[in-house]
Amino acid sequence: MNNIKNVIFPETLKDAVSALKKKKSFFMSSSTFSFKSVPEGTENIVLAKKLPLRYVKKDPKNLLIGALTTFDDLENNPLCRSLFSGILSFSASRCSSQLIRNMATVGGNIAHPNAFNLLPVVLTALGASVKVALRTGSKTVPVRDFYSSKFKCGTEAIITEIQAPLSLAKDDFYFEKVSKIRSSWDSYITVAFRSRLRNGRLEDLKLAFGAITAFPYVNEALEKELLGAELTPALIKSVSAKYGEAVLAFHPASRINAYRAELAANLTAFYLKGLTEKV
Ligand SMILES: Cc1cc2nc3c(=O)[nH]c(=O)nc-3n(C[C@H](O)[C@H](O)[C@H](O)COP(=O)(O)OP(=O)(O)OC[C@H]3O[C@@H](n4cnc5c(N)ncnc54)[C@H](O)[C@@H]3O)c2cc1C
Repeated sequence: MNNIKNVIFPETLKDAVSALKKKKSFFMSSSTFSFKSVPEGTENIVLAKKLPLRYVKKDPKNLLIGALTTFDDLENNPLCRSLFSGILSFSASRCSSQLIRNMATVGGNIAHPNAFNLLPVVLTALGASVKVALRTGSKTVPVRDFYSSKFKCGTEAIITEIQAPLSLAKDDFYFEKVSKIRSSWDSYITVAFRSRLRNGRLEDLKLAFGAITAFPYVNEALEKELLGAELTPALIKSVSAKYGEAVLAFHPASRINAYRAELAANLTAFYLKGLTEKV
């Protein structure tokens, strides 16, 4: 049972972090996800609404996205539409309904590992980092280390910003979300890919697969092996088969996962073949 006694609207990050120091406090952004899962015994709700964390801008090295930026903001922001092949804008447009996109925030989407959250896979392809405010100061960690860092998001840690390196802004990016049954959350896969091809050879590669496990699936060893390789039809066939097999191995007995595995292989082959045709 919750017996909410206070609802606090801090206007600065410092005040928000202090408010979380109170026992039984819980941080909420737009509450699209947390409205039904406020932890048992919560007495103080710290609402993000007035924090100055809704922005998209550039510094010399990164695209900076404030944690309160909504999916609708991402979809319509000119920087998100133009940089990184527009992957931020396009992927945001594939999230649920307009009602949810108007509210759902970037911070709330990545705060906890959840297979169906769309941004972790996109941020993985972007090579992005996550900036977090803690009682002891702030920390910035690459998204691949974010969940293993075990931040207690919402009770001790506040995500403040995403940083996507502009050095990759002109690479080729691709996002797709494919669903067998449109109305079901059980049957879809998301992919977010990044690459750079020079003289027919791979100079950069990141292939991230979402909605399979709580964390996006990547195979860094295979990506490394492929750097410098020429994308021949035989190589594309063997690489896409490997990704299909890897996805299948997560839930070998599941029919839904067999569908995802087939898609993982087909989308990989489609993307890599498309790269060779662009040259
Ligand atoms: C009908 C429906 C459809 C949906 N469809 C999709 C979909 O297609 N794709 C998808 O990815 N998601 C989907 N979602 C999930 C949800 O909307 C998103 O995860 C959203 O981005 C959460 O943001 P929020 O601001 O509402 O977070 P909240 O609900 O406010 O918070 C969620 C959790 O994150 C924590 N939190 C929030 N902000 C921060 C922060 N800045 N720092 C630290 N912790 C924080 C909270 O404490 C809480 O534990 C859907 C949800 C609903 C209800």
